[in-house]
Amino acid sequence: MKEDKKVSGGKKVVILGAGLTGLTAAHFLENPQAGAAKTKPFILEKKSCAGGLCRTEKKDGFSFDYTGHLLHFKKTNSFWKTFITDNLKIDLKKHSRKASIHIMNTLIPYPFQYHLAYLPKTEKEKCVRDYLKVYKSAGKTGVADESFRRWAENSFGKRMASLFFIPYNKKLWNFNLNKMSTSWMGRFVPPPDVKMILKGADKKDPSQTAGYNASFYYPRKGGIGRLPAALEAGKNIIFNAVIKEIDFKNKNIFFEGGKMPYDKLISTIPLPELLSYLKGSPVKHLSKKLKWTGVYNMNITVKKNFSKLGHWIYFPHGKVPFYRLGFLSNFSDVPDGFSTIYIESSYRSERKKISSASVMKFLNITDNEIAVTKNLDIPYAYVIYDMERAKTLGEIKEFLITRDIISTGRFGGWKYSTMEEAMQDGFDAAF
Ligand SMILES: Cc1cc2nc3c(=O)[nH]c(=O)nc-3n(C[C@H](O)[C@H](O)[C@H](O)COP(=O)(O)OP(=O)(O)OC[C@H]3O[C@@H](n4cnc5c(N)ncnc54)[C@H](O)[C@@H]3O)c2cc1C
Repeated sequence: MKEDKKVSGGKKVVILGAGLTGLTAAHFLENPQAGAAKTKPFILEKKSCAGGLCRTEKKDGFSFDYTGHLLHFKKTNSFWKTFITDNLKIDLKKHSRKASIHIMNTLIPYPFQYHLAYLPKTEKEKCVRDYLKVYKSAGKTGVADESFRRWAENSFGKRMASLFFIPYNKKLWNFNLNKMSTSWMGRFVPPPDVKMILKGADKKDPSQTAGYNASFYYPRKGGIGRLPAALEAGKNIIFNAVIKEIDFKNKNIFFEGGKMPYDKLISTIPLPELLSYLKGSPVKHLSKKLKWTGVYNMNITVKKNFSKLGHWIYFPHGKVPFYRLGFLSNFSDVPDGFSTIYIESSYRSERKKISSASVMKFLNITDNEIAVTKNLDIPYAYVIYDMERAKTLGEIKEFLITRDIISTGRFGGWKYSTMEEAMQDGFDAAF
């Protein structure tokens, strides 16, 4: 087994995980900013391919992402947008989001709170009445440091909360919303705007929009997997690596068939997995406190056109087992005449394999219209921000940093974050 070599920079850096975070860290270690030492790290990856969640899988000439993977840049002049187009040479297309919510057997434009005029009159009136009650009494945005359920009711009023915010989030998180904090929301769930709520209740206006994903970018060709594929070229990656133990005192990684010493370890693998390798560490037991959901992602390609249904639809109610349907073909290059649909359902401890029957019924698809199916499992999908998360994470990170272990990325940093943030995390870890 090969061992990591010192390259020109001196420090031996090992990276765990060849997802977007690990690959970006490797890229900037090999191509450092002016003045920094150049290092060629080894990456240990448990799968037989790179890319992590940002992979694009192929089957029978069709492409499938791990559900929707769309690029939302924080700033219009984002460093990462330029990096993807200029350095990775990927042509991105901008799309204006077309999303809706399935409520009361009808499709209401997203965001729900700004399109109440699409509801039956009595429902709309209840939503507005309850919203104005909380708006006048609790202030404009609810109280910040309470449970998600209370935040939803205090911010939108009971009726809107019970029609969309509470059932949808219950379905997505599979967790008691009274025990979930609001600290994950940030730009993902902005507080309501009173003028927009009233305007949207007064008149149907699909152009009323808001949110971090009101527009997004996606590669014109080849799927989102082109990002990791471009970063992977020329990297030292050991695939199918089975890590046995990390001796954090002597800085050695033991894996099946080898041992690898390091000076600095950048871990982008899920935190519970990293902790399981740190035998004898005082923080190993804390992994029991970390909670997350998995996502089961069914994909079907059909010979039918769904361009009118937009980019995705949210399903807050319990009549179907999935929480979202997305139409990959409405923003990516799918062969003419076909549509690819991604179906998402979430689970906690046991994988919930859903049948395609409910989707076929909703979309009126027959068996002989299905060209390809591809099922993908995402065992780590969403980190649950319960009330203990911040304290537990703080204790773990404090220990790791004193041992020259940087745990970063979506599951290394144990957070709700995007691909742009994964690249930023990789960049930060490299310096
Ligand atoms: C359902 C879903 C939808 C999403 N949609 C979007 C979106 O629309 N837009 C967006 O910007 N972001 C989206 N994201 C987030 C995005 O996928 C992540 O932010 C990003 O891909 C994280 O990259 P990462 O490298 O940190 O983690 P990962 O992609 O998880 O990479 C970690 C790597 O570590 C490897 N690994 C795991 N365990 C071990 C081990 N024990 N030993 C060695 N290797 C190991 C894995 O195989 C993987 O290659 C979505 C995420 C999910 C779950």
